[in-house]
Amino acid sequence: MRIGVLALQGAVREHLEMIENCGARGEAVKLPSGLNGINGLVIPGGESTTIGKLIEKYGFSDSLIKLGTSGVPVFGTCAGLILLAGRVLERRAPTLELADVTVKRNAFGRQVDSFEQDIRVSGIEDEDRPFRAVFIRAPVITEVGPGVEVMAGLEHGIVMARDRHYLMGAFHPELTGDKRIHQYFINMVSRACPGAA
Ligand code: GLN
Repeated sequence: MRIGVLALQGAVREHLEMIENCGARGEAVKLPSGLNGINGLVIPGGESTTIGKLIEKYGFSDSLIKLGTSGVPVFGTCAGLILLAGRVLERRAPTLELADVTVKRNAFGRQVDSFEQDIRVSGIEDEDRPFRAVFIRAPVITEVGPGVEVMAGLEHGIVMARDRHYLMGAFHPELTGDKRIHQYFINMVSRACPGAA
């Protein structure tokens, strides 16, 4: 199974390592042609305005939208969540608008740049065991459409959700050794393409 990581900016290497640790093949996608034939895609955290502008500059927009609408699973973390969201408050650059959620950028305020917190994520393996979530100038999901499954929340808002084949997290699951969230995504991908080894 081939899982691409959009490699325009942000935490690419850590995602590739997690994917490999889950037994799938991770590929850094630097050009739109790198999307051909992949079975799933991770859009990493970083800076959504920068990634959004680079998506346009390198001609990724149409191929990313086509990839998503064709049913290939996409996992957006932090800035990647912002890029997937259908509606973005304080948006500064174009986004893909694929998933039925509204996000608020920098939702934890400027004085709290980053923090770690144990959260409970429903649906992952051993879901009662807390997941150590790293939040870095993180967004939150403020509203979800009717078909969206909420997987984790804090008092500020929703921090993990799934809309059909789109998985979204406000934090950085690639920064701790816990691979349960990546494994959940890889399982989504294997269900979407049972033939791929
Ligand atoms: N605050 C960033 C943005 O709006 C996201 C931060 C992150 O991905 N860690 O793009």
